[in-house]
Formats: sequence, C-alpha cells, structure tokens
Amino acid sequence: MSIAVACEQTNAQTTTADPAPNLVLSGDVTGAQNKTYFEVPFEVPAGKHRISVDFRYTAREQRAVLDLGIADPTRFRGASGGNKSHFTISETDATPSYLPGAIVPGTWRLLISVPNMRPQVVSHYTAEIRFDARSEETGFADRPLAIGKRWYRGDLHMHTAHSDGSCLSQSGREVPCPLFLTVQTAAARGLDFIAITDHNTDSHFDDIRELQPFYDRLLLIPGREMTTFHGHFNVFGVTQFLDWRVSPGRLSLNEVLRDALAKGGLASVNHAQAPEGEDCMGCGWAPAADTDMGLFSAVEVINYGVIMFSSATYWDSQLREGHRLAAVGGSDNHNATTPPGEPGSIGWPTTVIEAEELSVAAILHGIRSGRTFVDLTASRDKTLDFAAESGGASARMGETLHVVDGAQIQVSIHAAAVQGSTAHLYVDGEESSAVPAMHLEGADASVTTTLTAAPGRHWLRVVVRDGAEKDQLISSPLYINFAEK
Ligand SMILES: [Zn+2]
Ligand SMILES: [Zn+2]
Repeated sequence: MSIAVACEQTNAQTTTADPAPNLVLSGDVTGAQNKTYFEVPFEVPAGKHRISVDFRYTAREQRAVLDLGIADPTRFRGASGGNKSHFTISETDATPSYLPGAIVPGTWRLLISVPNMRPQVVSHYTAEIRFDARSEETGFADRPLAIGKRWYRGDLHMHTAHSDGSCLSQSGREVPCPLFLTVQTAAARGLDFIAITDHNTDSHFDDIRELQPFYDRLLLIPGREMTTFHGHFNVFGVTQFLDWRVSPGRLSLNEVLRDALAKGGLASVNHAQAPEGEDCMGCGWAPAADTDMGLFSAVEVINYGVIMFSSATYWDSQLREGHRLAAVGGSDNHNATTPPGEPGSIGWPTTVIEAEELSVAAILHGIRSGRTFVDLTASRDKTLDFAAESGGASARMGETLHVVDGAQIQVSIHAAAVQGSTAHLYVDGEESSAVPAMHLEGADASVTTTLTAAPGRHWLRVVVRDGAEKDQLISSPLYINFAEK
C-alpha cells in the first residue's frame, strides 16, 4: 500500500554561502506508515556537481525511526539507514554509504524507510538539500581540526595507488601503495596536514572522504599534481575535475590555472629545477612564455629532499619579476613505507604554515599570505619568522614593506629550537655580503641587523644553517616595495 505523504518542495534562496539550502523538503510521517517505504522527489538542475543532504526528524523520543537513502534519475546512489543525518555526493567523492558519480539533472528521490512509528505518533521530517556546497568541495572535514593561530606542519606532495605510488605487499610483491598507508604514516609522524597529490586524477578523493573523520588530527587537503608536458604543479583545495591537457590550440596553462582558482584552488609550481628528458617527461618547468605566473601562490623550493633553487634560478627569477611566491616543500613520496629521514619519505621536508586554525581554507590562506617556511630536518619544533621595519612602518615575512631610497631597514629574525645554528639573510636572491651570518643562541633566539634601502623593488629571505653549514630552514620572502597582490 502506498501512503501519501505531505511533501513540499520550496525553492530556498540561492546563495554561494553554505548555510542556506537550495531546497527544503519536509513532511509528516504517521503511525499508519509504520514499516513502509516512501520516496520524496526533488529536481536537480543541470550543471551541478555536488549534492549535500541534511536530514532530521522529530519524535525520536517516542522511538520514531526514519531511514535514508537516495536515487538519481537512473540508479540507486546509496543508503545510510539511520546512521547518517548528513551526506554529500559529488562527481569524485561521497560520504561512505553513498556512490560518487555524475550529478545527473532531473528528478532525484530521497528513499525513506519507516522501521518504527508508533500508532499515535507523527514525525515531521526536514531534508535540506544544497548544491555545490563550497565547504565540501574544498575539504573533507566538516569543521576545523584545531582552533588557534599557530604554525602547522605538513607535507604537500605525495602519491599513492591512485597514481604511481608503490610499495611491497604482505608477501613482498610490489603493488600500488594503498592510500590509507600514506595517511597512517603521516599521522604516525605527527604531521598536522597532508595533501595527497596523485597525477591528474581525482579518484583518491573518495578514499580521503572516508578517512578524514577517523584522522581527526590530520587535515587531508584535496590535492593533485597537474602533470603537463611542460612542467608539473600542484593544485590544492579543489575536488572538481580539472583538465590538465595543456596543448597549443586546445588548452592553455593560463586557462587551467584560472579554472583551478575559480574553483577555490591554490596553485604551486613543483620541482622547477628538475631536469627535463625521457627519464622524467615534463618534469622540468618550461611553460609557455605568456604564462601568468601571478596565478601561482607558491613554489616548491625543496622536492624529494633536493633544494630546488639557487640565487640564479627559478624561484628568485620569478620573485625578480615581481611575483609573490611563498616557499613550500614536498616529499614527492611514492612509497608510504620509505623510512623516516630518507629522501622522499613522508614529511621530508616539512612545510610549516602559520594559520588561524587547522582547516583547508586557513592553511591555503597561510600559503597565499606567505606565512610559510620549509623545515628540511622535518622537526616538530623548529620555527622561523622575520620582520622588517623602516620609518615607523613594519612588515612580517610574506608581507610588503614600503620604504624610501636610502632609508634604514631593520630586520629582526626569530628562530626557535635551532641552537648553534646561523641565520643567513638573502637580499634579491643573494646572500648579503653586508650582513654576516648571525649566530642563533638559545632555544628561542632573536637577532637583528640593518640594511640600507636601495631604490626599487627587493625581496628578503632567510636561510638557517646548522653548525655543518647544512640548510635547515628556508623562509618565504618578505617583499620591499612590491605591488600588493
Ligand atoms: Zn612531478
Ligand atoms: Zn609528484
């Protein structure tokens, strides 16, 4: 017997912000419907790529139970019974219990089962439907994993079975390395965040969607390595499809970048100094001459334990052009079982980012703001920051100081947990001959030095080296007289 259910479909206010639903479905279920099934249809417009549902109902205290599932116009898309009141389904990922895939336009149906409804009870249900909810497209956690401004530590570049990651199986065979092992290893190493950046694919997002609630101290940032014939770069914070197939007349790199940024992403150049050739096709960074480097926010200055810059090379050359590019690092891990400390092991190097909280939005904001440094030692306690001051104005690492020609600039460097190391100030990509290496004494060291402002645009950065002159920490730049981004 089919029982009619009071059901209304209202077109709620459309907004890009998450809080307001696009549709609200509601109705009453009575005791007469005990142990029956019904469907609640709703229309999905064309061009959507994610549906999120929040479902709630009354009379739970009277043991009312409503179970939930969903179907698109052509097929069943999953059921979560009574165990999830919220779920999301997209082209790439879905809450466990649900199937990712195309968000087909047309009539979808909530599938509601009534396992228990006492005779005199009426339960009112409400289903809020959101399309393309931004918060669920840029991350997998429904709230920040930690609150509070501090330096968060992570690895922004790694591969799994979803591209060319491999490791040894239980019986010693080389197999595609499962994604959970990467996440578990990163968690065991005490990282705060990781971005899994499989090549050109978005098939890993569904696994990550499942893992994030369990790893509630390790932020899993949606990432992918955009692997073109003319160089590699990472995009963070996008779960939608991104076309990477850059080719003259087909798709330009600028178009790819604008697409990624429009979808909320951040782009970072990978291993810019890698050699190009048949051993690693497209690994060298050689984009078309008209590529707008202003669309990038960062450059990977350490990849696989290898320093990817020198004073004459890529990062500084782009800074010289006036682009503001934060320093990030990536292990480029391809085997989650690589022992700690070896090149390419997870967390070597660590990228350290100042953020207001541990969320994708805040971590990406920290990179965009240039509040980053790279820790080649993968420590969990070293910090590095610096600031500059001139004529009453001041700026921190990542910010811009505007000075007049000939003014004195006082630079203050602060570093922690680097006893016995030295701080080296670089001006315009060259270690300053006017400023000798500064010794960092004590667990919490501050040193200052003074420069005289030359005309024009400049950038400062700091490298901390240990007693054996090995690089330990590499700062992002502080900009002098740069245009604001
Ligand atoms: Zn690469
Ligand atoms: Zn890679």
